[in-house]
Amino acid sequence: MSSAPKRLRVAICGAGVGGLTLALALSRYPDIEIEVYEAATTLAEIGAGIGIFPRPWKIIRLLGLEHDLLKTCEMKPQDGPVPAFNYRKSDQQVGFSFSTLVTNGALLTFHRADFQNVLLRRLPKSCRLNCSKRLRTYTQRQSGPTELVFEDGTRAFCDVLVGADGLKSAVRRSFLTERVNWMQAQGRWQEATEIGSCIDPIWSGTIAYRALIPAERLKAISPGHQSLTTPSMFLGKHGYIIAYPISHGKMINFVAFNCRHDLEGTQFPGVWMGPGDKSQFAGIFAHWEPEVQVLLHCVDKPLQWAVHTVKPLRSFVSGATALMGDAAHSMTPHQGSGAGQAIEDAYILATVLGHPSTTRETIPRALRIFDEIRRPAAAGVMEACRLNGRYFSFELDGVDLDHYAGPQLWDKLQKLHGAVVKNWEWAWTTSVDGSIQDALRKLET
Ligand SMILES: Cc1cc2nc3c(=O)[nH]c(=O)nc-3n(C[C@H](O)[C@H](O)[C@H](O)COP(=O)(O)OP(=O)(O)OC[C@H]3O[C@@H](n4cnc5c(N)ncnc54)[C@H](O)[C@@H]3O)c2cc1C
Repeated sequence: MSSAPKRLRVAICGAGVGGLTLALALSRYPDIEIEVYEAATTLAEIGAGIGIFPRPWKIIRLLGLEHDLLKTCEMKPQDGPVPAFNYRKSDQQVGFSFSTLVTNGALLTFHRADFQNVLLRRLPKSCRLNCSKRLRTYTQRQSGPTELVFEDGTRAFCDVLVGADGLKSAVRRSFLTERVNWMQAQGRWQEATEIGSCIDPIWSGTIAYRALIPAERLKAISPGHQSLTTPSMFLGKHGYIIAYPISHGKMINFVAFNCRHDLEGTQFPGVWMGPGDKSQFAGIFAHWEPEVQVLLHCVDKPLQWAVHTVKPLRSFVSGATALMGDAAHSMTPHQGSGAGQAIEDAYILATVLGHPSTTRETIPRALRIFDEIRRPAAAGVMEACRLNGRYFSFELDGVDLDHYAGPQLWDKLQKLHGAVVKNWEWAWTTSVDGSIQDALRKLET
């Protein structure tokens, strides 16, 4: 590493998709020193899949990761219309396909471990990754560096702190607590209460059960099962299942959602994440079509995941501290976009910090530009994800599909499909280029 004094020292708290992408994006600027602090003793992803839409894929390309990532899967990025998911109405004895979601450019699907390995392999040595460093809190003064305090009692200093520490972010907790204290000192009690309510995540009312199914196991029982080759969604009242091949078709990523939207905002009664049991969710899908029963039969050792979100924040930044990824805007997974949004945050944050006009003195301005661009965008995606969760579990305009049959049911399902497309098309009809240009324009005026 060069011994020349660095323009900025950036501390990234959390080495998930967001933190690692930021580290990689910042490493293109040799005058920025990067320290990543990760709570886990070693980095290991859960056994699950991840889908990346064309918007964040553009960033993967810009960071030069495309080739390595594509080696881990059978898919190829494509321009133009591509079938992304087959939709079935499955909550009955004889299910049927009613539409295909066509995206402009492919949704690329990976094993999470493969995705993480590529990011880690490409991280330059100059970028220090410190494991077993769980941030407890930090102190930011009017001037001078920010002091980080870790659970092991050690301390570190930086010019910019980025909270990429996920749903239960310690950075968000410290950041918002400071705001609450300030508001209370001003006598602004209502605002203090409102800000304080964003510290802890809220339950979405949905539980996800995730598993990887060896393709051979599924093939042995159902050689023609559509999920072996076609990303599929099996939809029904109160829940849905998503299944798609990953790792050169050797594994099928399986997620079953039990949706109780009426419970959104209530306290989840149990452990948020941990080993699950098929008996916890098989009952919900017991009357569903045979294609679903076969998948359920093949599931072994699922992970249970109570899906939590973070209430929309008033700001992602404060002075020289920024929140990104799930720490800033944890959303429901119904558009497969949380990681994509973290990747977009990472790239825009690196663009504003890496710009030559950003110095220690102008960090707050650079971070405000990041906030102006990314906060409204992420808030829109968060709401779109929430709506998709309703649509996939057959809640549209208070219509109960059980009351319809024949052509009328078909019409309602087409209307549902139309609503899904309208709500989701931002992911393949818009480009991240506009956000990058916007950041540069704001920095240069
Ligand atoms: C069922 C399900 C399916 C999903 N599918 C998709 C999909 O297909 N596509 C997609 O784009 N998104 C998907 N998502 C969302 C996606 O997984 C998340 O949005 C994404 O992983 C968030 O990345 P992140 O880096 O912000 O946070 P995380 O991945 O949570 O990383 C945070 C990191 O910070 C570390 N950390 C935590 N606290 C501290 C601390 N105090 N100090 C230091 N380190 C700390 C953690 O150990 C972790 O390594 C899905 C989510 C779920 C639940």
